[in-house]
Amino acid sequence: MAKVLDEQSRKAVAATVRYYRDLGIYDLYRRDVPEGMTFGQAIAREELALPNPLVPLVPPVPAAAHSAEVDSNEAPAANASQLAAILGDKPAALRAVREDIGDCTRCKLSQGRNSIVFGVGDPHARIMFVGEGPGADEDAQGEPFVGRAGQLLNNMINAMGIRREDVYIGNVVKCRPPQNRTPERDECDTCGPFLMRQILIVRPEIIVALGATAAKFLLGVADSMANLRGRIYDFHPTVSRTASECDPTFTTKLVVTYHPAYLLRDPRQKKETWLDLQIVMNYLGMPLPKRNSEV
Ligand code: URA
Repeated sequence: MAKVLDEQSRKAVAATVRYYRDLGIYDLYRRDVPEGMTFGQAIAREELALPNPLVPLVPPVPAAAHSAEVDSNEAPAANASQLAAILGDKPAALRAVREDIGDCTRCKLSQGRNSIVFGVGDPHARIMFVGEGPGADEDAQGEPFVGRAGQLLNNMINAMGIRREDVYIGNVVKCRPPQNRTPERDECDTCGPFLMRQILIVRPEIIVALGATAAKFLLGVADSMANLRGRIYDFHPTVSRTASECDPTFTTKLVVTYHPAYLLRDPRQKKETWLDLQIVMNYLGMPLPKRNSEV
C-alpha cells in the first residue's frame, strides 16, 4: 500500500521535483523508499549515484531583471539537450556560462569596460580564488589578476607549493568598475550569479575569498576582515535567491583572507594571509613548507 508522506517529506519531494524541472528534467519515476530510510536519505543515496548537475539549466535571474533594459538583454536559456551534453565536461560547461554572459550590458559597468574578464585556470581545480573585479590591467588583457595584485596572488599560490595554472581564479564582477571603485550592490547581484555558476561547475573543495567584497558577496555578511578571516566556513553556492536555482547536493568550504591589493598597501598583513593559506593547505592535506614562507 502506498505510504502517506508526512509534511516534511512532502515538502522535500516538492522541492526535489522543482529542482529537476529547473534542470529540464520532466520525466520522473516513482520508486519506493527502502525500508528503514527516510525520503531525504533515499534521495541523497540516489543523487550520489548520479552525475553532478554541473550547470543550472535556468540562466541566473539578475536582481534588476524586471527593467525593460535588462529584459531585452537577458541570456537565452540553454536548452536541456545542450546542457545534458555538457554534463561532466567542465570546460564546455564553463564555455556555456561565458556564452550566456554574451556581450553583456546587464549593468552599468559594461559602459566603461574593454573586456569581460570571465575567469581563468583549471576547471577541475581543488582551490578557487575569488576577487572583487578586474582592474585596468585585467580589463586590458581580459584575464583576472594579471597586474601587480596578480603578481602577489601568484606568489601566494606559489608559496602554497602549487602554480597559478593549478587553481581557478574568478571575480564577483566581470567588468572593471570606473576608477577601480568597489562594485556596487546591484552590480554584484547582477553579475554574481555567473560566478556562482562557475563555482557550481568547478566544484572546488575550498574557495579563498580575497578581500571584503568577495567575502561579503559569498557569505552574505558584512563584517571586518579581521573578524571574517582566520577560520573555515561551510559554503553553499546559490545561483539566485530562489532555492530552486541551486544545487542542493553541493557544499564546499570557504576561507576569507586579505586582498593582494590591500597587502601591497599594508604588507604587515602578509603574515595573517599566510596563516589563512595554511588553513586551506591543512584542510586539503597539502604538505606545509618546512620553513615558514613569505607570501
Ligand atoms: N583585483 C581583483 O579583485 N580582481 C582582479 O582580477 C584584479 C584585481
